[in-house]
Amino acid sequence: MIERPARLVLLGHPVAQSISPRIQNAALRVAGIPLTYEARDVAPERLSAVLGELASERAAGNVTIPHKEAVAARCGRLTPLAQRVGAVNTFWHEDGLLVGDNTDVGGVDATVRALLGDAASSARVALIGAGGSAAAVVTAAEGWGGARVSIYNRHMSRARELADRFPAVATVASSLADALRDATLVVNSTPVGMSDATFPVPIASLPPNAAVFDLVYRVDETAWVTAARQAGHRAADGMGMLVEQGALAFTRWFGIEPDRGAMWRAMR
Ligand code: NAP
Repeated sequence: MIERPARLVLLGHPVAQSISPRIQNAALRVAGIPLTYEARDVAPERLSAVLGELASERAAGNVTIPHKEAVAARCGRLTPLAQRVGAVNTFWHEDGLLVGDNTDVGGVDATVRALLGDAASSARVALIGAGGSAAAVVTAAEGWGGARVSIYNRHMSRARELADRFPAVATVASSLADALRDATLVVNSTPVGMSDATFPVPIASLPPNAAVFDLVYRVDETAWVTAARQAGHRAADGMGMLVEQGALAFTRWFGIEPDRGAMWRAMR
């Protein structure tokens, strides 16, 4: 049985912790749940000790950079999605076990379906990056029917490792131009553009009708998404994904849907 959380925490690096507490605390307030979602900066060498403390405190929560894979390795049980991605962004305790899930996949899925609609099932995805969030993108693409993903990463060996785990949908691109050829959706799953106005892909290189999905989120939208829209592309940044992965996590912890509108308003 899921143990109702007595504490909610976000484990990760401070740079990735700015917005999630705001959106989760807004959802908790609206639902009348008397808990505060706290961000906790945890050094990798302290992770096992912290997870032990959290088990004794009946805590649940989220995981962000750099602990998603390390927490997956320490869970007593993984949901099939977390197992497929190889990373955990949401955890809770159940029957005395640490259970890990991955709601980033649902966040990607919701954003891409909003951008492409039924065309998701035939999407040709150029995926830039091959880390944990890229694995969530490929896992989501497995659920779109006939979608295919071409992965480009600055270290090609990592792109190859990811593609090898998903041979039915993913291949490795030998260059950025190779990945972009015939793409109907261009996805940035690198941190490029997080703290400045750099672009992961030049706007002029985007195929004319391709949609753009930037997993990076900033309160004021990323420069790449703004420029892509100005050039006539449908585009979404990572805010919608952030709200959706948080909303799905909330439902796992409490068994109820949060107020997504309140979560959106808390970000602005
Ligand atoms: P990660 O596992 O550390 O992977 C990072 C990827 O980006 C790797 O492929 C890495 O390439 C590449 N990369 C890093 N710096 C780069 C640079 N300067 N130029 C080109 N490529 C670079 O990180 P992650 O968890 O996948 O997160 C990636 C981004 O997604 C972050 O900005 C994160 O905030 C965002 N994200 C957003 C959401 C959301 O809800 N919107 C959820 C999850 C993640 P190498 O392999 O060559 O090092």
